[in-house]
Amino acid sequence: MKRIDNFNAGPSALPLSVLERVREELVDYQGTGMSVMEMSHRSAAYEAIHDAAEAKLRRLLNVPDDFRVLFLQGGASLQFAMLPMNFLGREETALYVLTGAWSEKAAQEAVRFGRVVVDDQAKDEGYTDVPTQLKRPEDVDLRYVHVTSNNTIYGTQWRELPTADSPLVIDMSSDILSRPVDWTNVGLVYAGAQKNLGPSGVTVVLVRDSFLAGANGDVPTMLGYPTHAKQRSLYNTPPTFAIYIMGLVLDWIEEQGGVEGIAARNREKAGLLYRVIDDHPDFYLGHAKERARSDMNVTFRLSDDELSARFLAEAAKREFVGVKGHRSVGGCRVSLYNAISVESAARFATFMDDFVRAHR
Ligand code: PLP
Repeated sequence: MKRIDNFNAGPSALPLSVLERVREELVDYQGTGMSVMEMSHRSAAYEAIHDAAEAKLRRLLNVPDDFRVLFLQGGASLQFAMLPMNFLGREETALYVLTGAWSEKAAQEAVRFGRVVVDDQAKDEGYTDVPTQLKRPEDVDLRYVHVTSNNTIYGTQWRELPTADSPLVIDMSSDILSRPVDWTNVGLVYAGAQKNLGPSGVTVVLVRDSFLAGANGDVPTMLGYPTHAKQRSLYNTPPTFAIYIMGLVLDWIEEQGGVEGIAARNREKAGLLYRVIDDHPDFYLGHAKERARSDMNVTFRLSDDELSARFLAEAAKREFVGVKGHRSVGGCRVSLYNAISVESAARFATFMDDFVRAHR
């Protein structure tokens, strides 16, 4: 069997033990004589999987009791529209903090439904940073403040979430479960599963009851959060197989010492690569300002384009996968989501060190 150092930005590596367990249970799930894929979503066996996944997520992330946990479809991209459709009236205003391409996309969808004001401080900096303090217009009531906790494409991350006087709505697609969450100001969190939680196909939404209570009742049934909250994400057929695998990933996170354990490991992994970048500042040019560096996506370029191309070619030859930067930024991006081992990150750091020595 071959397993490769997979630094893809998403979908991304899953823990090997999870994949092996899926293989073991693929055709006969725990003596039921069928695959989870073949089970009725109304069966006791599936409901146990569904409820356990929710309970594990609540436990690991310390989700307060006044939050509903939803398992939806359509990816984070559908959340960009579903959120304002439910929570932003024509005459209401939301603040979108622009920290990268995904937050811009979220803001563009919101414009269809209500008023949008933007904090574009990070945009002005070429998305190398996140704001230290939010910029918001005076004398406007904000329905919510939308932030992207980790900017997958640019490799920046909020070390601490901003404080705001309106509920925070957070796109955590690329760092959910990588570290603990301070729930104090949060109204809603959403995340596509395919980076830290499991395979694509399920989108997790965590929404506070008091925020949910303000949802617009006049939206298509499937696009209303209350539909899914009332029916525990079983209004229609949920993505059962993806939820099952997510449950196994959550077990694995528990085994790693929970979110605290995972967070320490993530810091260590990213630190290995940032150390090489800092040791050779004229050779590797990190994209993110130090204070906003992401533990999930390490982005950098080499001192010239030709050298960048050689680096990528050499990385591919060594079978490091997914290292090319996003087409809008160029350079390199190494994604170090939860399932990436310290050893895998260390192998890449050594490769970076060796490459400097060979090409300096
Ligand atoms: N938001 C962030 C921060 C992302 O990184 C991504 C995908 O990479 C998305 C949203 C879009 O997610 P999806 O493909 O699930 O729609």
